[in-house]
Amino acid sequence: MEKNKVTMERLVNHCKNMGIIFPGSEIYGGLANSWDYGPVGVELKNNIKRAWWKAFVQESEHTMGVDAAILMNSKVWEASGHVASFADPLMDCRECKTRHRADKLIENYSKGSVNADAMTNEEMEGYIIAHKIACPVCGKSNFTPIRQFNLMFQTNRGVTQENANIIYLRPETAQGEFVNFNNVQRSLRMKLPFGIGQIGKAFRNEITPGNFTFRTIEFDQMEHQLFCNPKDDAKFYDFYKNRSMEFLTSLGLPAEKLRFKDHEKLAHYAKAACDCEYLFKFGWGEVNGVHNRTNFDLSRHQEFSGKNMEYTDPTTNEKFIPYIVEASYGLDRITLALLDNAYEVETLENGEEREVMRFAPHLAPFKVAVLPLIKKLHADKTHELYRTLAKKFRVIYDETGSIGKRYRRQDAIGTPFCVTVDDETLNNGTVTVRFRDSMEQEVVKLDDLVSFIQTKVED
Ligand code: ATP
Repeated sequence: MEKNKVTMERLVNHCKNMGIIFPGSEIYGGLANSWDYGPVGVELKNNIKRAWWKAFVQESEHTMGVDAAILMNSKVWEASGHVASFADPLMDCRECKTRHRADKLIENYSKGSVNADAMTNEEMEGYIIAHKIACPVCGKSNFTPIRQFNLMFQTNRGVTQENANIIYLRPETAQGEFVNFNNVQRSLRMKLPFGIGQIGKAFRNEITPGNFTFRTIEFDQMEHQLFCNPKDDAKFYDFYKNRSMEFLTSLGLPAEKLRFKDHEKLAHYAKAACDCEYLFKFGWGEVNGVHNRTNFDLSRHQEFSGKNMEYTDPTTNEKFIPYIVEASYGLDRITLALLDNAYEVETLENGEEREVMRFAPHLAPFKVAVLPLIKKLHADKTHELYRTLAKKFRVIYDETGSIGKRYRRQDAIGTPFCVTVDDETLNNGTVTVRFRDSMEQEVVKLDDLVSFIQTKVED
């Protein structure tokens, strides 16, 4: 069996055809950098969310979850520094009037060998002129100077559009965890070090083209904020950095396609920061970041809100504002990495092409497909089996086309097991289970089917 090379374009088409990801607002010509997850994609995304929550919240004795509001008091974003400085360096092409991020122009031009993050605006402008970097749209090299462009979407609360009513769609979920530090600590009697986990939407007015779902204007973040004594920050930073690799490989991403990239130029709040990158078909890209945010956030919230953010150590009585070590995972980028890694196109010995999504079984969108061999004879029993299995797993029913075609369709969306109902099922209470990866088949008793599948799809 031969494996064929797959392009990004083919993956995007496959996702659309198979109900994994559709272009956003497609019937109106779309909306740049927005995508909708279809019936298959939403299951995959939910399974990743569950795996993250289990690893970072459920299995941690010292972590609690929250689900904070997306819209927050604007003072939050003044305190966090986002109103003043959450901006991208943008240049307009004078020839074709398209807008580009200067840092990305340099990174693409140098194939990642130059780190534009560490450059000032003047250095980036100088580099672009000296190397005559071309506009990716029209090919000319005639850009305006850099202007800073704030990435927060803003809207107005209430009926009047006055400045006083401006509110922002949150550009990161983190502040929802920070402003609730005291609430969580007191209500659940938490002792430092402890964590707050959250999964939710964030919004950024990204204008650069997105490499499919890699860079979108709305996305989900899965964040774990660890609050600790300042003297422990380095230890926890290392711990959560290593945890990134552990978690990403537990999802089935191969270690050789993952790497750390330490930040040279740090954000205004950070003492140390690194990205964990995955080797996508279009090159290395960040899937999560680990940041030592120091006591910047809680100090600023104390200053702007007037509320005390200090913690008193119950054994030493020492008072301090806790440090925060953040681990921020992009759900959409992890989903994309898994799609990128799982999608294979094989040429079988008989010359046929097989598309297969080799997801780890616990992440597979559908765990089992139930297929009546002959619709007229076996559909009723198959529906009955659907109802039994669906109490435990996400199941899909398919009665259209030959059994071989139906197997292929399930391979193409990554369903690890196909269960065929035939005369043997009606007469002897057995079904044929066909495996996605090996394409082998096994006869299993109906009574044993739930536990047979369960042992194979548990993480
Ligand atoms: P980038 O440098 O790629 O813009 P970032 O460093 O600004 O990303 P963070 O602010 O650290 O990203 O956000 C944490 C995580 O949120 C990232 O690791 C990424 O997975 C995800 N993320 C950030 N921006 C986007 C986006 N526009 N679309 C999808 N996911 C995103």
